[in-house]
Amino acid sequence: MTSKIFKSTIISVIVALILTIALFFNVLYHESLNTLEATLKEEVALVKTGVEHEGIAYFDEATVNQRVTIIRDGKVIYDNATKSEKLEDHSDREEVKEALATGWGYAQRYSESIGKQSIYVATLLENGDILRISANADTAMSLLLKMSVHIMWIVLLVLLVSFVIVNRLAKKIVKPINDIDLDDIDVIAPYKELSPLYSKLQRQNYTIEKQINELHKRQDEFKLIVQNMNEGIVLLNTDGNIVTYNEAMKKLFGLDDIKIGDSIYEIYRSQAFMSAIKEVLAGSKQDLHITYNDRIYEVIMGPVKREDSQNEGATVIVFDITEKQMQEMMRQEFSANVSHELKTPLTTISGFAEIMKNGLADPKDTKELAGNIYDEAQRLIKLVEDIIHLSSLDSKDKQDEKEDVDLHKLTSDIFEYQKANADKHNISMTIEGEAHIFGSKSILEEMLNNLIDNAIKYGNEDGFVKVTLKEDDDEVKIAVADNGIGIPANAKDRIFERFYRVDKSRSKELGGTGLGLSIVKHAVIYHDGHITVESSPNGSTFKIVLPKKA
Ligand code: ADP
Repeated sequence: MTSKIFKSTIISVIVALILTIALFFNVLYHESLNTLEATLKEEVALVKTGVEHEGIAYFDEATVNQRVTIIRDGKVIYDNATKSEKLEDHSDREEVKEALATGWGYAQRYSESIGKQSIYVATLLENGDILRISANADTAMSLLLKMSVHIMWIVLLVLLVSFVIVNRLAKKIVKPINDIDLDDIDVIAPYKELSPLYSKLQRQNYTIEKQINELHKRQDEFKLIVQNMNEGIVLLNTDGNIVTYNEAMKKLFGLDDIKIGDSIYEIYRSQAFMSAIKEVLAGSKQDLHITYNDRIYEVIMGPVKREDSQNEGATVIVFDITEKQMQEMMRQEFSANVSHELKTPLTTISGFAEIMKNGLADPKDTKELAGNIYDEAQRLIKLVEDIIHLSSLDSKDKQDEKEDVDLHKLTSDIFEYQKANADKHNISMTIEGEAHIFGSKSILEEMLNNLIDNAIKYGNEDGFVKVTLKEDDDEVKIAVADNGIGIPANAKDRIFERFYRVDKSRSKELGGTGLGLSIVKHAVIYHDGHITVESSPNGSTFKIVLPKKA
């Protein structure tokens, strides 16, 4: 801007200077012509007096610096510069005609005879001759030329001074603009001419600040969401280098030293993963499952494209689907088990019923066959009941059906119910201690009944079942102990699995479904507690701890 102001001003100065000089020269030239004309007129008047007194002889003594011509009837009778006879007829000369008409004549033109631009002043003499004095008009021009050297110096000086002044001026004009502090624009403009600029900058500053704040807000919100997501997120550039990632990504892959700029290929080197990354960077979406540190992840990758469809990189989102996959596996296993467990008694029932239907059974065996059908039907009913209990526990809302439950009372009711069963094997049942819990009575009943039922089922003849109840301010402890067959150490971790049985045929014989302890475990989880088992060949003790929070 400074140089633009400087250039414009200097050009203006030069134009003004040229115009001034041209006008000055013009005025000077005309002024010098006027002076010359006045001088010639004075001289003409002087010579006129002399010639009128003495005739042409006047020129013998008088010294006239200029060219003098005397014209009679158009013919030159005297000329001190050129031989008169060589001169043509002068009657048509402008100054001659004017002098004849008015007494005085003036003309300016190029003289053919002397070959110069000339000024002519003519006067009418008393005898009717025309006296004409002419001078070289170049005299004025040469005067000007002489002056031009000085003028050139003056011009140079003026230009030099102008350069300095304009330079300083340009800097001075631009200084307030250069001095504007865009971070501190909320001040009054130093010059009123700058006020509109200041107002505009203030408005713009305000808008920019608002937009930046809005942008920061959005960025923070986005960051907060991304950082708090359970899913790992990584943004890659076109080379597969990490542009950004979230905490979850670090946790999922157990990466402590992951850095922006690292190559994604360094993080996980499986062939399938690397080729999926290549595909996504080439522009196609990818979805794959990978296993890392014993966990199963679903990795969804999508290309990031610009408006012109050019690839900018890719987003990689990682979901930990280990639990989901496990649940799916369990669900599939459970369905397969249920089908199998249902099919076995049904096949037996169908077989016995067919024998009876076809009259193939000996009448004396009918009772036994019907008894077998009844037993299998009972097993089926128990199995269906257990499946219903389990699925209802799976879907139960924990806020439902809670009340103060007297566990002592509940246990003795179950003892009452199991008495005939226990008596068959001469098993004694005792309760020790008292405890109350705020929970679901039906679920707790199911839980205790299954444990006591197992203790009798897998107990020894003449054995015992002992339920111990304890309670403090924080928790309730329940222990169900027996002196039965015990659980082998390698089976301890599996007995809570659905349909797991240590001895399948024994369990079946005893009317077990393999779902009892699964129901117990769910009942404990429903009450936010935990269950452990201690077992030896001399018996087993199931220990449950339930928190007492309301
Ligand atoms: P089941 O219907 O077969 O009893 P459960 O889920 O109740 O199914 O128990 C799973 C398995 O754990 C049983 O088959 C049995 O082998 C073992 N078990 C459970 N309770 C006891 C116990 N008190 N003593 C010994 N073994 C037990």
